[in-house]
Amino acid sequence: MATIEIKNLQKTYPNNHYAIKGIDVSIQEGEFVVLVGPSGCGKSTLLRMIAGLEDISGGDLFFNDKLMNSVHPKDRNIAMVFQNYALYPHMTVYDNMAFGLKLKKMPKAEIYQRVTDAAKTLGLTEYIDRLPKEMSGGQRQRVAIGRAIVRQPDVFLFDEPLSNLDAKLRVQMRTEIKRLHRKLKNTMVYVTHDQIEAMAMGDKIVILKDGVVYQTDSPINLFRHPENKFVAGFIGSPAMNFVSGEIIKEEGLYFVTRGMKISIPPPLQVSMERYLGKRVDMGFRPEYVYDKGLEKERRLSTDVEIEILVVENVGSETYNHFRLNGMDTIYSYRSSSSNVHIPGEKLTVGIDLERLHFFDVETEESIL
Ligand code: ADP
Repeated sequence: MATIEIKNLQKTYPNNHYAIKGIDVSIQEGEFVVLVGPSGCGKSTLLRMIAGLEDISGGDLFFNDKLMNSVHPKDRNIAMVFQNYALYPHMTVYDNMAFGLKLKKMPKAEIYQRVTDAAKTLGLTEYIDRLPKEMSGGQRQRVAIGRAIVRQPDVFLFDEPLSNLDAKLRVQMRTEIKRLHRKLKNTMVYVTHDQIEAMAMGDKIVILKDGVVYQTDSPINLFRHPENKFVAGFIGSPAMNFVSGEIIKEEGLYFVTRGMKISIPPPLQVSMERYLGKRVDMGFRPEYVYDKGLEKERRLSTDVEIEILVVENVGSETYNHFRLNGMDTIYSYRSSSSNVHIPGEKLTVGIDLERLHFFDVETEESIL
């Protein structure tokens, strides 16, 4: 078991590309931490630095308070699972899992015990004598995970392990990995570019962009309290809607833009006061827009006239893409699949005033 402390970690590649720009992350013992962000944000680099596969250019990495910067990968007691499985094609499932233990000259009986236990945990017992080519992608990835388990590492590192699997299998495997985590209780660090996978799996999620941490938080806090516009737009599907407008004062504070005038709820007014007369970006999620013709007035909301442009019915729900009065930007709103709109339809929706987000247009930081 291990805690991981990442302090002001930096990476500059030999071609002078500054990939990791001073990152701080604390990982508790037994925590499942997901590193997520768009392609090229530095998540694999960071994981590989934890593994010791990339040199550290600046800052410190500790496992259990021990400085690891110069410790060889094989002495870090970590096990890594890769996207491409990295199995030996000429070896059976058993031999693939046993290989690392044989290299360590572990007694045969113990190897047998560990491999058969891991195979059982992963539902691989009946495939133990097969070659990788005789197995499906999901089964191969399970073997790769099994090979990591038998080493009984302090830390598991996963680098986009499910990216080669089809959508259904990916969902199934992410449940299996979570279940495995509950059973083993090891510290796990998991890299993915998929925010839904991150939200589904992480106890804690680190959101990266351009080598910088934008927010580290629990899934629910990232969704409810994004600290900046990037996180607000990255977490959630369909993505949060953003409208640019101005803060004005009448009998209270209002956010105004073409076709929309929103009364800012009293609890938010203190934070918004210093933006009086200035432009801000307002964010509202597709799930907090209600069809006024259907929904009872459940919450404090503001009425907005919209025109439906495109309707995507995905079965369990419907994503309606719309335009606000006279504006070009396309926004989304989520409705139940029984509430069917048609393109061209005009209707009044309510935007939940208690679920609004406001961002500074220059810094893109949350104002609230
Ligand atoms: P991610 O895993 O988030 O997609 P990476 O960590 O692989 O991103 O890469 C981060 C940045 O560093 C990217 O801009 C990438 O092009 C660059 N990079 C990755 N590996 C190297 C390398 N060996 N040499 C130079 N630049 C690299």
